[in-house]
Parts: sequence; structure tokens; C-alpha cells
Amino acid sequence: MKSIQGLDFSNQRALIRVDFNVPINSKGEITDDTRIRAAIPTIKKVLESNGSVVLMSHLGRPKDGPEDKFSLIQLVDHLSELLSVKVTFSKDCIGEEAMRATSNLKPGEVVLLENLRFHSGEKSGEREFAEKLAKNGDIYINDAFGTAHRAHASTAVIAEFFPHKKYFGLLLEDEIKNIDKVLKAPKPPTLAVVGGAKVSSKITIIENLLNTVDHLIIGGGMAYTFVKAKGGKIGNSLVEDDYLDTASKILSNAKEKGVDIHLPVDTIVADKFDENANVKEQNIDSIDDGWMGLDIGKDSILKFKEIILDSKTILWNGPMGVFEMEKFQKGTVAIAEAIAESTRNGAFSLVGGGDSVAAVNQFHLADQVSYVSTGGGAMLEYLEGKTLPGIKAILD
Ligand code: AMP
Repeated sequence: MKSIQGLDFSNQRALIRVDFNVPINSKGEITDDTRIRAAIPTIKKVLESNGSVVLMSHLGRPKDGPEDKFSLIQLVDHLSELLSVKVTFSKDCIGEEAMRATSNLKPGEVVLLENLRFHSGEKSGEREFAEKLAKNGDIYINDAFGTAHRAHASTAVIAEFFPHKKYFGLLLEDEIKNIDKVLKAPKPPTLAVVGGAKVSSKITIIENLLNTVDHLIIGGGMAYTFVKAKGGKIGNSLVEDDYLDTASKILSNAKEKGVDIHLPVDTIVADKFDENANVKEQNIDSIDDGWMGLDIGKDSILKFKEIILDSKTILWNGPMGVFEMEKFQKGTVAIAEAIAESTRNGAFSLVGGGDSVAAVNQFHLADQVSYVSTGGGAMLEYLEGKTLPGIKAILD
């Protein structure tokens, strides 16, 4: 691990790639500062070790150059508050403007550079742009797990200009260590709970997890494709007919590898995709025509809970039902609560990937699991077994 833990930053300007891609409302207010808070430990570590800090990030998806609504200047006051340090802002991330802001920094000073994506060279991974960016610091630290799966100028290409001075930030280091606790050296029995809408978006993850886990629970919308592949009758439930063969193959691969796949046995069916729908409970393989499964049923909850409580390592990605609607969130809440209980009993639990993170936050259980990953897409690609460009660039 190329960690910053023991480093002394005296007279060094640390150029840190952070993920400050936070939601901002029409009044310019930050509506969720989780990502900013997640980067604070790394910034403080550098400042406390006598260094200065230059922060770079993207924000939103600017199309063609600078746009006020995507300016990082909107973050300056809040960041200054969180750090208890006055943060200065540079209106450009490269060129004279940036050089003026970053070339004579004193220990303890912090500069935030303007949105990297105001330059097209960021996303295209342009070497010349990366070289200009690199002039803003003496040491490069990548702490942006959320963009580690992108080979952009600031996340990957830039590292070559710091051949002996490139490091993982504390957040990125933590993310890797925690995901590796599941993927590389899990304490058995190991369980993955995978849910969400589609099989197609999770196939590679499921296939990779079959090499690691003892049990795999499949819930959410994707479960119905598996049930249909096994010959079940699923009514109007979500299904990907093009993936029936894939689902069958996953089931037989799992058998070969000695992995137990657990599908829901019952389901809450609705007569329409609506909070006000009529609902009833049915066996998952004999759903009435015209009805669709939108949550797992109570026998499935009991069965899944038992497996969760028996596991020592648990990964959870994807909800068990349409948890955005109150009527169909019981399954997801129960699974989240069971994972929290298993964690209290000593299991290691990792929650990652957009919607399950939203679910544990919504149900106020985020502090009752071992680790909640901040990187949606990056976490999913890491679980697929891919080498992330942002990680590779530091290790190479
Ligand atoms: P994903 O982004 O693939 O993890 O999928 C998350 C989405 O799947 C959420 O918005 C859920 O509402 C949706 N979902 C979960 N279960 C079902 C289901 N049984 N039918 C339709 N959508 C579902």
C-alpha cells in the first residue's frame, strides 16, 4: 500500500484528487456533503504534517467549458468551515491563474482549483493537460474512490509525473482495504446479498463473487429472471428474457463451485407499479397473471435472515424490492436490519453500490454496518474483479 500514514509533508505541496462531486440545489446550496467530509482526514493529515494542500475535483457534467452552476467556488465556504482553515480558490485548474495560486504555498495553506471538467483534456485523459495539472503540486495523492474507475487526466494519467511521489489518500486506502476484506481474505462463511433491478448490470459481479462466497442471496427485480429460468410463473414481474440462459448458467456454475444460491420463495405482488396498488403475498414461482412482484415475502425474509445471521463476512449490493415506495420496502429494511444484527454479533459487513447505500442511510443503519463504500460505479467495477485505472496508476 502506498499510504500517506507515516509521511512528513514539510515544505511539500500535496496535490490531492478528491471527489467533491456533491449535489447542489438551484439556490447553490450543497444538499449532501458526505463526499466532502470523506476527504477531510487526508487533507488534515497533510496540514498536520506541515504540508500545504491543492485540491482538484470535478463537479457535475459541464458540456463545453466553464458554467457557473458547475463551479467549485460554491464549495469554498463550507470546506473552509469543515477544515477550520480559510480555503483560497483558483479560477482555473491549470495555467497562470493556477500557478499564481499554488506556486508559493506555505505550510497549512489550502487551495481549491476550479472544476477539472471545464477542460476537455480531463475526461479524454490528455497527457498535456495532466502535465500542466501536475505543476500544481510536489506530491500526488489520489483520494477519489468514486472516480477511480475512470482513466481521466487527474485520476490516472497525472501519476506518471510523480513517479516516486504518488500515494493513496486515507479514504481510498480504506475503501480498498475494506473491499479486499470481502474479495481477498474473507472470514467464512461468506455471503453476498445482491439485489436491484437488472441481472444484466450485475452478471460480471455475480460471476466474480462465485469465486469468493459460500452463499449468494439474489433478491430484487433480478430474482424473477432466475425464477423464470427455473420454470417458474412470474406474471408481470420485471424480467430480462434475453438473460434467461445467462441466469441458468449462473445457477449451474454456482453448483459446480459449491456456492449455494438462495432465491426468494415468496413475494409481495401488486396489480400495478404504484404505491396505491392492491397487494397480496404469493409463492414466487406461481404469480397470478397480471400481478408483479415488487418485494420479497415474509418466508423469504425469515430464510434470508437465518443465512445472514450465520455469516461472518457479508457484502450487500442492491435492494430486495422497490424500497422507494413504502409499501414495498419491508424486505429491504429487514435485510438491512439483519445485516446490522449480524455485524453486532461479530460479522464484517460491507454495503456498497448506489441504492443499498441510499437504503441504509434512509433506514438510519449506516453506522451499524462495518463499512459503507462511497464509490458507486467504482465499487461495482472493483467487485467485478477489474483493476481500476486510478489504483493501477499509483501502484505501477
Ligand atoms: P440497481 O440500480 O440495479 O441496483 O436497481 C435498483 C432499483 O431496483 C431500485 O430503484 C428498485 O426500486 C428497483 N427494484 C428492486 N426490486 C424491484 C422489483 N421487484 N421490480 C422492479 N424494480 C425493482
